Amino acid sequence: WSYGSGYGGNALLGKKCLALRIASSMARDEGWLAEHMLILGLESPKGDKTYVAAAFPSACGKTNLAMIVPPKGFGNWKALTVGDDIAWIKPTADGTLRAINPEAGFFGVAPGTSYDSNPMAMESIKGNSIFTNVVLTDDGDVWWEGMGVEAPAHGIDWQGNDWTPDCGRVGAHPNSRFTAPAGQCPTIDPAWEDPAGVPISAFIFGGRLSKTFPLVYQAFDWNHGVFMAATMGSEATAAAIGVTGIRRDPFAMLPFCGYNMASYWGHWINMGKKSGLKLPMIFRTNWFRKDANGKFAWPGYGQNMRVLKWIVERVNGQVGAVESSFGLMPRYEDLDLEGLDFSKAQFEMITSINRAEALSEIEEIKTFFAKFGAQLPPELESQRQEFGKRAEKAPEVWTVEAA
Ligand code: GDP
Ligand code: MN
Repeated sequence: WSYGSGYGGNALLGKKCLALRIASSMARDEGWLAEHMLILGLESPKGDKTYVAAAFPSACGKTNLAMIVPPKGFGNWKALTVGDDIAWIKPTADGTLRAINPEAGFFGVAPGTSYDSNPMAMESIKGNSIFTNVVLTDDGDVWWEGMGVEAPAHGIDWQGNDWTPDCGRVGAHPNSRFTAPAGQCPTIDPAWEDPAGVPISAFIFGGRLSKTFPLVYQAFDWNHGVFMAATMGSEATAAAIGVTGIRRDPFAMLPFCGYNMASYWGHWINMGKKSGLKLPMIFRTNWFRKDANGKFAWPGYGQNMRVLKWIVERVNGQVGAVESSFGLMPRYEDLDLEGLDFSKAQFEMITSINRAEALSEIEEIKTFFAKFGAQLPPELESQRQEFGKRAEKAPEVWTVEAA
């Protein structure tokens, strides 16, 4: 049953309610995965294709990453969209995990969507689209704050009232939406509707964290990856959550998991025990670390392609990494920064690990895990303890360079 919410993602029962809540419960019973993940195809200049699936909590960049446009200088790499929100992932006879996007279209937040922030989303909504709670202009078009075009002199706002740019109210509701057929996205992958799905080589998990967490790190093994995903989260706006102030959103599934969260983790641990499965590598990313001035220290958006390239090369055994207490991390020279003005010092800023912050994170995970009682898979508590041992041994400030 799904009730009591007017938010579109819930009201459209095919989306979160069926494709995640009910499907996750079916997936547990039948041995597959229903996940809050985008699916992205990455084609190297040689023509090799690698598919990744990524879970970020709401408003942490799934739609942006699903429609990523590689930066200048990466012209020979192609990024192709399979889905931007939900993945159904099933083991197949040859042991690969294959994913489909169960949705027909994109359902995105309108305010802030512009040709600067997400050009492929703008291209997708040129026609055959439904807009809800945006401004209706006098000539029958739509407008929202952060659209990157001048506001109309007059329009009808999301509540149906007359609206002018100087009236003191926003015209579009902050959660106003566009709905567009996925096939209209210029970067849609040719296989996006293939019922066989696409083979997943890597899982990526990420949150919105201004400190402590490096730009990217790889799990040592499957169970470590499940631990990384189970403990992910985003900075809380309320300061009362804990020392590092993280609101946990395991696997970005907290609002969408259809059964007990600790059992869901157990389901993931069990997937790793199945014989013959070609398990994808698992990564964590954080595009949102801030510098001393409170500014994002990583340029993000299209530049995230550089991190995706390292991930693809890790999958194919083509690039190096060093061990940190968090996981395996790229050295400065392992990340392709060609054409980007990004110094070794800046790289150090987004990859250094403060031991005290790591240790307090490990303590907070203990409190978080305690909520799940006896249902917590023991593998996750032992991952936490191993993390603790690694962090204890680390220098006060660990850097990739010194490793
Ligand atoms: P979704 O809800 O997970 O699909 O997230 P969206 O892709 O809609 O993005 C949510 C917000 O995060 C938007 O305001 C984006 O502009 C912003 N965002 C996305 N990717 C990045 C990034 O790499 N860096 C920064 N700083 N912001 C980003
Ligand atoms: Mn989205």
